Amino acid sequence: MSDTDGKKPLGLGGGARGPGQVKQSFSHGRTKSVAVEVKRKRVVVPTKPGAAGAGAASGNSPHLGDPSKRPAGISDAEMERRLAALKAAKARETEDAARRAEEEKAREEERQRRREEMEAKEREDREREAALRAKAEEEERAARAAEEAKIAAAAARKAEVLGTRPKSAAAPEQPAAKAAAAAAPAAADDSARGGAAAARAPLAPRKAERERDERATDRDRGKVKGDEGRRAGKLTLSDAISDEGGRQRSLAAMKRKQEKARQKAMGFGQKAEKQVRDVQLPETIVVSELANRMAERAADVVKVLMKMGMMVTMNQTIDADTAELVIEEFGHKAVRVSDSDVEQAIETVADKPEDLQSRPPIVTIMGHVDHGKTSLLDAIRKANVVSGEAGGITQHIGAYQVKTPNGALVSFLDTPGHAAFTSMRARGAQVTDIVVLVVAADDAVMPQTVEAIAHAKAAKVPMIVAINKCDKPDANPQKVRTDLLQHEVVVEQMSGEVQDVEVSAKTGKGLDSLLEAIALQAEILELKANPARSAMGAVIEAKLDVGRGPVATVLVQNGTLRKGDIFVVGEKWGKVRALINDKGETVAEAGPSVPVEVLGLNGTPEAGDVLNVVDTEAQAREIADYREKAAKDKRAAAGAATTLEQLMAKAKADADVAELPVLVKADVQGSAEAIVQALEKVGNDEVRVRVLHYGVGAITDTDVGLAEASKAPIIGFNVRANATARNAAQQKGVEIRYYSIIYDLIDDIKQAASGLLKAEVRENFIGYARIQEVFRITGIGNVAGCLVTEGVARRSAGVRLLRDNVVIHEGTLKTLKRFKDEVKEVQSGQECGMAFERYEDIRAGDVIEIFEREEVQRSLA
Ligand code: GDP
Repeated sequence: MSDTDGKKPLGLGGGARGPGQVKQSFSHGRTKSVAVEVKRKRVVVPTKPGAAGAGAASGNSPHLGDPSKRPAGISDAEMERRLAALKAAKARETEDAARRAEEEKAREEERQRRREEMEAKEREDREREAALRAKAEEEERAARAAEEAKIAAAAARKAEVLGTRPKSAAAPEQPAAKAAAAAAPAAADDSARGGAAAARAPLAPRKAERERDERATDRDRGKVKGDEGRRAGKLTLSDAISDEGGRQRSLAAMKRKQEKARQKAMGFGQKAEKQVRDVQLPETIVVSELANRMAERAADVVKVLMKMGMMVTMNQTIDADTAELVIEEFGHKAVRVSDSDVEQAIETVADKPEDLQSRPPIVTIMGHVDHGKTSLLDAIRKANVVSGEAGGITQHIGAYQVKTPNGALVSFLDTPGHAAFTSMRARGAQVTDIVVLVVAADDAVMPQTVEAIAHAKAAKVPMIVAINKCDKPDANPQKVRTDLLQHEVVVEQMSGEVQDVEVSAKTGKGLDSLLEAIALQAEILELKANPARSAMGAVIEAKLDVGRGPVATVLVQNGTLRKGDIFVVGEKWGKVRALINDKGETVAEAGPSVPVEVLGLNGTPEAGDVLNVVDTEAQAREIADYREKAAKDKRAAAGAATTLEQLMAKAKADADVAELPVLVKADVQGSAEAIVQALEKVGNDEVRVRVLHYGVGAITDTDVGLAEASKAPIIGFNVRANATARNAAQQKGVEIRYYSIIYDLIDDIKQAASGLLKAEVRENFIGYARIQEVFRITGIGNVAGCLVTEGVARRSAGVRLLRDNVVIHEGTLKTLKRFKDEVKEVQSGQECGMAFERYEDIRAGDVIEIFEREEVQRSLA
């Protein structure tokens, strides 16, 4: 290859490849000839392919004959051959073109021929159609002419007969109808023949008919052309193919339509007489769940609630009362369920009479404070504790059992007082069978005695009166008995029904008789229980013991509670780990009326909660959880209560909180009654005023005692408390308020009741003075010579003139003198002279009440 690089001429003939290489090795020694050979060889190459020749022929033909202009290296022969080839090609080309032109011409001719054929056909068709139409029209015209002629003739005849002209409106319609009828069978025949003709054939009569109809209407009535024509057209259509098919379709459509209507009617019926559901309604329910149970849309329920003035969402809880209104609104029926289905795990089957055995009575001791309830309970216990002889150590668990001399058992609730009794009752546990009413023989029937009587009567629990402190020298049991008559308690000694026993807690006198009386009463009551069933009881006390965990004292009311029992108690549950009796002994079981401490709770229940033994732990847990949730929901629902009515209902439900108890004392019966009436009307959505007691005259310490027991304020209207009452009120923290204007009184109570108390002006009594003498002094008027009996008398203070504890004047002082000197204040025990501003009616013996006003924050209600 390095050789090739050196040969320049060879390099010029770059076009020669294969033969050049051969020549290269061959021409190694030679020069020129090699080059020529090479050139000639190169020329040969392009002659071989015909395409090259053809390409040259078209472009280079003018100078092909001229060797000077011809491309180098092309020989004559080659040139000839090329020219010949060119010619042949040209000839072939022209031949082809001629053939193509011929073919095109033939095609064109063919197209033309076809077009003509089609046109001819169309023309033929048109002619045929026209002929048919013409023929139909001709027939039609002839028929109509004949008809008209006939009718005209008939009319003429008729006119001749009747001497009237025929009605032009109705008559011509008849022939039209007839013609239609006549055309129908013809069309039917056509359709029967079938094929394309059948499709075309009815067109003619239809068209003819339409035209005729149009003409008829135009002529006869001048009616709207299109309307009539369309109708007529439809009528004729049903004659032909569309006739049967149309009927079939309409039949199916009809069926569908009927079915639809039927379904619609049914659907409508469903809506109209909606299915009335029994909606299970617990104490509270979430809006969406309520909707669910009614099978209504939650949004609709919310809407109804909003209409009722409750703005709630579907996730909010509403109370049963509201829910019931909603249910009624939707036309369903509310079925109140006190508790959910889970509660059904608690056995509620009634005991069979043969399973029942008598049980000891459960006794609560009630009575006025200091009448000896606790002393009596202790005395009974000490003397009679069941098998107490062993250790003698008794334990306070809230209740205990004693044995009567006759061997009968009695269970005492160790929590005297009314609050326990009522709160237990309020929680649904009516535990007490018998109430022992303790009245001190040295005292009388007191406010709490009366209250106790009311409680016992309300609970329909029989009473036994224990007249206590009979050991006392000033004891007067008979007075107690007569006092009780006033309160409709007629004891046996007064030939009544209520047993009465004279006792002394101090000496133990009459205790056995009391127990016997209880046993007798129990016998009358025929108290029975079924020890064989699973236990049910009430919590008397519950506490969280540091060492033992939650402990509840349960008084078994029915069945027998055993160690290992699974139970639910209120919102808590547990499994009995241990049972401890009132003597601190561990026992295996506790039967009816037996008080026992229960260990093994999961939390501390509340007094009054009911204990129920259930089968499984799961059930217990489920019920407890449910109750907890229900209680929470109830609280939430109470919080969600927004309307006035609901708030009122709530206030009624929580009467303890919402009630403002008051005691009213007034100067005269009339004002007392007026005040009570006005106060009873003071009831808003939060608080109601309850007048515990009202009367005429000074406020006494009995009033104070009653007020203290009920935590009520005393309202004095133009009356004052006597000295002992004042002291007692101060000691016991009883509030006494004085008023002289009913309006102010009511206003104040209203405010107190509403809890809207602001800082207000309150009177402070700073002193009392008694008028000893009255002097008449010219220029000043009547002047009272007084002795300040209490506190101080101040010149600037307000004063009231009291006569027999009744306010007869209220005002300010004109003068306050001590030994002729005007002074600012006079201390207790000193004498002074006082004159009232613009008031003269003062008498010896009157009392002047001196008071100051101050702003205080009240905390009532
Ligand atoms: P409670 O408030 O009703 O429970 O009354 P208590 O049992 O606390 O008794 C009040 C006071 O009356 C105590 O000082 C007792 O000692 C006294 N007491 C109770 N019963 C009798 C009794 O039968 N005779 C006498 N003399 N005093 C008694």
